[in-house]
Amino acid sequence: MPTVNRREFLKRSAVATGALATAPMLIRIPPSPGEQPVTRITRTLGRTGMKIPIVSMGVMRADNPALVRAALKAGIVYLDTAHGYQKGKNEEMLGELLKEYPRDSFIISTKVPPEESQEAFLEKLDISLKRLRMDHVDILYLHGPSSREATLDPVMLGTLQEAKKSGKTRFVGVSTHKNEPEVILAAAESKVHDVVLASINFKQDHADQMKEAIAKAAEAGIGIVAMKTMAGGFFDRDKAKPVNCRAALKWVLQNPNVTTAIPGMTTFDQLADNAAVNQDLAFTEEERKALVQGEAQGGLYCNACERCVPGCSKNLPIPELMRAYMYAYGYGSPALGRELVTINGLQPNPCADCRTCTADCVKGFDLKERIADVSRLAAVPEEFLA
Ligand code: SF4
Ligand code: SF4
Repeated sequence: MPTVNRREFLKRSAVATGALATAPMLIRIPPSPGEQPVTRITRTLGRTGMKIPIVSMGVMRADNPALVRAALKAGIVYLDTAHGYQKGKNEEMLGELLKEYPRDSFIISTKVPPEESQEAFLEKLDISLKRLRMDHVDILYLHGPSSREATLDPVMLGTLQEAKKSGKTRFVGVSTHKNEPEVILAAAESKVHDVVLASINFKQDHADQMKEAIAKAAEAGIGIVAMKTMAGGFFDRDKAKPVNCRAALKWVLQNPNVTTAIPGMTTFDQLADNAAVNQDLAFTEEERKALVQGEAQGGLYCNACERCVPGCSKNLPIPELMRAYMYAYGYGSPALGRELVTINGLQPNPCADCRTCTADCVKGFDLKERIADVSRLAAVPEEFLA
């Protein structure tokens, strides 16, 4: 584990990526006078060759540029956003802030959802680049496919290749929070993707399958980035039982095949907590206990396993609704929850005329109650939640 200051760290990364003709030099702004050298754990992101700290930043819900600036100062190098986050405002905020920084001093990814045609996808990418005030991103993800078929869709594969060829992105990948092992293996098979961004956390019932798929993908040269690492941040809707976030993040990063994680951050306390993991991955006794206790609790995180879906008389998109519930209560973002509820065309309380719920959740969630609760968001005007 090398001890370096920020500038030296990024210079060394540049040497590590030197074999890639497309890799820019990473030269960081000098450390503040009197800044102490720090110890930082870094890993290489698969075949991209980019060497980055194990903790990065999910910017999705952040709207305070000072927080992103503080993250960069704390040694975070990689920032993740998406075309759809905050209806474009997230990318705009980053564009406004990052224009102050040399382009080669940070790594940024964005995500564009699958489109019917290459033109439609690339049009969205151009909008994202305009908002970001950049001529290229470092990683472009196809946002959110949940099957092998969707991951290997020839139109989207060709589109990602075209985006790379035109220089609008250095590397391409796929992001997924459903059927992750299938998508990870498909990406490894594609020979097109360089990176996979996937939900990975200690509450996943399919953790063993995930580990196996991640190992195979890593062997094939795919860089693995983890999201949803906090499993919703709380075990209950009243936020009385918080997840031990350091423990959760360490659990994910204890897998050496996971290069980095992008926990979503909205506060300076969260930043301090997460950035500390960049310097120390060892569990404390308290963190170990928190994980063991947490595994036994129901929580807010849905595996998206779809085992409940066949039992639902109305064929509701239950995994998406459970994710909306997690966003509303765990993340404290009803606006994000509402977005998912409305995308799925839900009306308030679609379960009202079911006398008994015939859909069973493997985690024991009371689906009828949670759906009645979260579907109320469909009736709230968007501007009230912005
Ligand atoms: S109560 Fe809701 S989730 Fe349960 S079966 Fe009826 S519609 Fe489906
Ligand atoms: S609600 Fe339960 S059964 Fe349904 S997808 Fe989520 S974890 Fe699986």
